[in-house]
Amino acid sequence: MANLVSSPSPSPRARPGRVVIIGCGFGGLEATRALKDADLDITVVDRQNHHLFQPLLYQVATAGLTAPAIAEPIRRMFRTQRNVTVLMAEVTGLDAVQKHVNLQDGQVLPYDHLIVAASPLGKLVAAATGAQSDRAGRVKVESDLSVKGHPDISVVGDLAAAMSYAEKRPPAPVPGVSPAAKQMGRTAARNILRRIKGQPTQAFRYANYGDLATIGRHSAVADVEVPWLGKLRFTGLPAWLFWLCVHVFFLIGFRNRLVVLIDWAWAYFTFERHARIVVGRAQDS
Ligand SMILES: Cc1cc2nc3c(=O)[nH]c(=O)nc-3n(C[C@H](O)[C@H](O)[C@H](O)COP(=O)(O)OP(=O)(O)OC[C@H]3O[C@@H](n4cnc5c(N)ncnc54)[C@H](O)[C@@H]3O)c2cc1C
Repeated sequence: MANLVSSPSPSPRARPGRVVIIGCGFGGLEATRALKDADLDITVVDRQNHHLFQPLLYQVATAGLTAPAIAEPIRRMFRTQRNVTVLMAEVTGLDAVQKHVNLQDGQVLPYDHLIVAASPLGKLVAAATGAQSDRAGRVKVESDLSVKGHPDISVVGDLAAAMSYAEKRPPAPVPGVSPAAKQMGRTAARNILRRIKGQPTQAFRYANYGDLATIGRHSAVADVEVPWLGKLRFTGLPAWLFWLCVHVFFLIGFRNRLVVLIDWAWAYFTFERHARIVVGRAQDS
């Protein structure tokens, strides 16, 4: 049995449409949130029980932060969203004709609309739908993020070889970053609602707000577009403080934000990294 984490809906057909969202990274999370008020039965499937804030993984790897500080249980994130069921399970199969997803434990999840937001599933989606993949194994998608010939299946985030369709500009490739995954998740969700209403779907447009990179203890580079101020480029301590604020702001959960701020402040003033815990036995690695 898959680990049924929460089940608010008594019957699979209680609502007019079943949406299955595979993967609760940035893309799956935003897609689910964008369907908050929709009269749909949404099932979020992830093989982990938590959403991971990958942009701060380097800080965990270098013992600046603990792993739980950048993770949030998926069930907790959707505890107030009544149309969501969360399943902790690994997806191992997809039948795009019968419209169902197979789980490792043998369970079958039927869907009317499917959003795939799990980058390891490129081969599976390509085999089930006949979609083309690029050299990186990403699935080539239509302008509205659906799979060619399968308007009920959308692919978002790092798994999607997507283009951005901005007005008066040629289509441009979308980078594999978290803001792009989030925006794709929202677009795919809105397009499901449009399809249900019989409206035409919208092409994906990536809004790039700039680049941020930390390059040292209190040094970073910021090349960003700020509302009302336009494009700004700055470096050094101001850029590092800006990088820190942005990452804390986008972290999920008040407790995580507080923990990260305290850990960073501690490491900054004491030069100590307290998260030097090795888990697992030596032979495991
Ligand atoms: C170390 C690192 C640092 C990064 N730094 C930055 C950064 O500074 N800024 C930035 O913008 N981006 C950064 N990125 C990229 C960013 O994290 C990704 O673009 C973003 O996470 C992609 O989101 P996603 O929703 O496509 O997939 P992911 O966030 O990767 O989520 C995929 C989810 O699918 C689940 N899953 C996978 N396979 C299965 C399966 N078979 N069945 C069920 N569930 C499954 C996983 O458990 C996971 O929860 C970084 C990435 C890494 C790895």
